[in-house]
Amino acid sequence: MREARVRQGYTESRIAAAKHFGHEFMMTMPPSAQMPFPLATRAAALEMLQAFLPKAGAGYAQWRNYDFGPGQHTRVSALSPYIRHRLITEEEVVRGVLTQHSPEAAEKFIQEVYWRTYWKGWLEMRPSVWADYLADLDQLGPPNAEAQAAMAGRTGIACFDNWAAELVETGYLHNHARMDGDPASNTLSWRWVAGLQTPGKTYLATPENIATFTQGRFQPEAILHGPAPEGPANPPAQALPAVPKLPDAPFLLLLTEEDLHAESLALRAGQIAGLAGLAPSRDGLSPNVAAFRNAALADGLMRAADHFGQGAPVLDAGALLDHARGLGLTNIVTAYAPVGPIASQLAAFAQQAATQGLALHYVQRAWDRAAWPLATKGFFPFRQHIPSLLPK
Ligand SMILES: Cc1cc2nc3c(=O)[nH]c(=O)nc-3n(C[C@H](O)[C@H](O)[C@H](O)COP(=O)(O)OP(=O)(O)OC[C@H]3O[C@@H](n4cnc5c(N)ncnc54)[C@H](O)[C@@H]3O)c2cc1C
Repeated sequence: MREARVRQGYTESRIAAAKHFGHEFMMTMPPSAQMPFPLATRAAALEMLQAFLPKAGAGYAQWRNYDFGPGQHTRVSALSPYIRHRLITEEEVVRGVLTQHSPEAAEKFIQEVYWRTYWKGWLEMRPSVWADYLADLDQLGPPNAEAQAAMAGRTGIACFDNWAAELVETGYLHNHARMDGDPASNTLSWRWVAGLQTPGKTYLATPENIATFTQGRFQPEAILHGPAPEGPANPPAQALPAVPKLPDAPFLLLLTEEDLHAESLALRAGQIAGLAGLAPSRDGLSPNVAAFRNAALADGLMRAADHFGQGAPVLDAGALLDHARGLGLTNIVTAYAPVGPIASQLAAFAQQAATQGLALHYVQRAWDRAAWPLATKGFFPFRQHIPSLLPK
C-alpha cells in the first residue's frame, strides 16, 4: 500500500503522519493539498491519550528517548500541541495515567508532564527572561544564510536535515530530536541545551547518542560544538502576579489559544452572560502551527458555546469591547495566560478596556496555583513536590 501511495505522489511524512495521528482521511485528499493537521480537537486529544495510557508506565521509561522516525513516535504521547493549547489539561493527562498505573510505575511520564508545569512556573517568576529573549531576537534580525539553510534542512548533516523536514511537514518533533513553540518549554529548553539555564552545563548532541537513540538510522561522524554561549545569570525569582477574585457581576467569558477547555475552568456557569474568542494576532508562525492553533481555537469555542449555551464569535480587541458593551457587561474574564505573546496581548487589551470602563479578570487553574510557586530553583528540588501535587 505504501508503495502505491508513494507512486501517487504522497510524501513519506504525509503517509507517516496519517498513520501516526490516525487520520486516514488525509489519504483521501490530493497529494498537493495543504494538511489541516493534526486534528486540533479535544476529541482527538482524548482519543490519543486513551491509546497511549497503557504505554505510560515502564514502556515509556524504557523507550521515551528513542526516536524511531516520522510516523513511528508510538512510545511517547505526541500530546504536546494539545497540552500546549489546553485542549486537554496536564491534570487530565496525569489523572488518566493514574487510572492505569501507580505513581511509581508511571513516575517518568508524570515527571515529564511536570517539567512543562515547572518551566511555566519558573518563567512566570522571571518574566524578564522572555523579554530579553524577544529583545535578542529583534537584535539578531532576519536569519542569515546559514540559519536559513538550517531551517530549510539544507545543512548537509543528514540527521539535522531530516528532523528539520519532519518538523516542517508534521509540526511535531520527538523530544530527543527537538528542539513547537511553547514560550516556556521551548525558550527555557533551548537555554538548557545551550548551558544558559544551568550556567556552563550544556546538553549537546554526540554522534554516539544520536546513533543509539535513532537505532543507527543516523550515524553522524564528528559533531563540532562551539563554546557554550555566555549569558546573564538567571534573574532571581520574583513573586507570582496576584490573581484577584472574580467579580460577582455577570461577565463575558473570553477564550484565547492559551486555554481551550473552558468547560473545566472554576467558573459559575450562571455568571457567564456572553462568550467570545480572541482573534489571534500572531503572525510569523509556520502554516502548520497556525493551522493547528486556528483549528484548536475553533474547537474550544464550539464546545464552550455548547456548554454555556452562548454564541461564540472570534473578535479582535475593539470588537470585543463593543460586544461586551452591547451585552451591557463591564467585566471580561479569561483563563490566566502565562508569560508569552498572548499574555502580552491581553495586558494591552486590559489597558484598552480600562480606558472604556471595562475590566479584564483572570481565572487561574488550581494546578498552576499549586505548582508554579514551587519553581523557585532547579527542576530536581521542584520534583520532590510531585507526590504532594498529584491530583487526588
Ligand atoms: C530544545 C527543546 C525545545 C522544546 N520545545 C518544546 C516546545 O516548544 N513545546 C513543548 O511542549 N515542549 C517542548 N520541549 C519539551 C519536549 O521536547 C516536548 O514536550 C516533547 O517532546 C513533546 O512530545 P510528546 O508530547 O510526545 O511528549 P511525552 O514524552 O509524551 O510527554 C508528555 C507531555 O509532557 C510534557 N513534556 C515532556 N517532556 C517535556 C520537557 N522536557 N519539557 C517540558 N514539557 C515536557 C509535554 O507537554 C508532553 O506533551 C522542548 C524540549 C527541548 C529539548
